[in-house]
Amino acid sequence: MLIDHLNRQRLERDAQGLTRLRRVAESPCAPRQVVSQCGHPARELLVFGSNDYLGFANHPALIQALAEGAQQFGAGSGASHLISGHSRAHAMLEGDLATRLETSIPNAQALYFCTGFLANVALLTALGDASATIFADKLNHASLIDGALLARAPMQRYAHRNLSVLASRLEHCATSIKLIVTDAVFSMDGDLADLPALLELAERFDAWLIVDDAHGFGVLGTEGRGSLSHFGLRSERLIYMGTLGKAAGVGGAFVAAHPTIIDWLVQSARSYIYTTAAPPAVAHALRESLRLIGSAEGDRRRAQLQQRINQLREGLAELIATHPALGWRLAESSTAIQPLIVGSNEAALALMAVLDEQDLWVPAIRPPTVPVGTARLRITLSAVHSAKDVQRLVDGLALAARELS
Ligand SMILES: *Cc1c(COP(=O)(O)O)cnc(C)c1O
Repeated sequence: MLIDHLNRQRLERDAQGLTRLRRVAESPCAPRQVVSQCGHPARELLVFGSNDYLGFANHPALIQALAEGAQQFGAGSGASHLISGHSRAHAMLEGDLATRLETSIPNAQALYFCTGFLANVALLTALGDASATIFADKLNHASLIDGALLARAPMQRYAHRNLSVLASRLEHCATSIKLIVTDAVFSMDGDLADLPALLELAERFDAWLIVDDAHGFGVLGTEGRGSLSHFGLRSERLIYMGTLGKAAGVGGAFVAAHPTIIDWLVQSARSYIYTTAAPPAVAHALRESLRLIGSAEGDRRRAQLQQRINQLREGLAELIATHPALGWRLAESSTAIQPLIVGSNEAALALMAVLDEQDLWVPAIRPPTVPVGTARLRITLSAVHSAKDVQRLVDGLALAARELS
């Protein structure tokens, strides 16, 4: 019965162009990756799909730090943080992270999590009790939505970046605790939340601002400190979540906030308490990643990334202007996430397939990850893409545009 039930749903999804397939990477995360897919021989693709914005995922210094960490701390943590799994490596990393965020959050402390998904669930369930209301942007990441659904607090979702709707909701909210929750860089659109205006609303209505900076930490702001630094914000009302598997190139996430908030997460967040601590070697490698992010090399890589973003946007704008009938649209994004919105699921898959024939891999993103009718190619850039790589993508898209016209 269950199997029939699932098979029926799978057929429906297939008919809607919603089937999801995995490819297997046979080589490390990098612009050129050897990839295989069920039934086909492995081949080398030029990839525009990772969130490895600084090209750190395969950085020799981080590979070495991971190996050193394993030598020093072993392969696994053995237990959750509150039992016996909290190692010196985790503690040192948390100290480093707190120092990074202190410029934006006075007296910030930091807490390291295995993943960003767990960190968001922890934040929203631990802070969103029955005396709170959660206000969430409609395009927030799935982990923020699910975290809010698990919380006792009711969730009110506001239209994407619509702060006048948010203001009136805050004004009429009767609960004593108000939590505004937003992606800083929206993960499927690449646009930025207006964090200064959101913080102003938080101050005006005695609310707290939870910022998910999965795509900003390491990339934006002075020394890659993230979106809060990018906007020059500083407040005790800020609760910051940064992930460490994207620009930082390794894995995990952290929350930085007022010490009382961090303590409360340790005391009560179930997705922190009831899960095995990440291998300490990972935390050890992340300390090296933080050092790189804040170094001259980090600055160089951020500058390179910005050049590629500008190059790609110019190329795509010209291409779209040449082929208006295709109805392709460039998102309003200044970040490394540059989606090309094509509309239907079928159109996105067809475009992905034409690129695939040219050994270019750009993932098609479809509902429910994005709203129905806005399927897209989510192009992401890395500092280690060359100008030639970006040109090859633009040329490949031009060929596809002619083929699909
Ligand atoms: C990737 C992502 C997360 C989840 O982080 P993981 O460490 O991958 O679990 C959370 N929020 C946003 C906006 C993301 O893009």
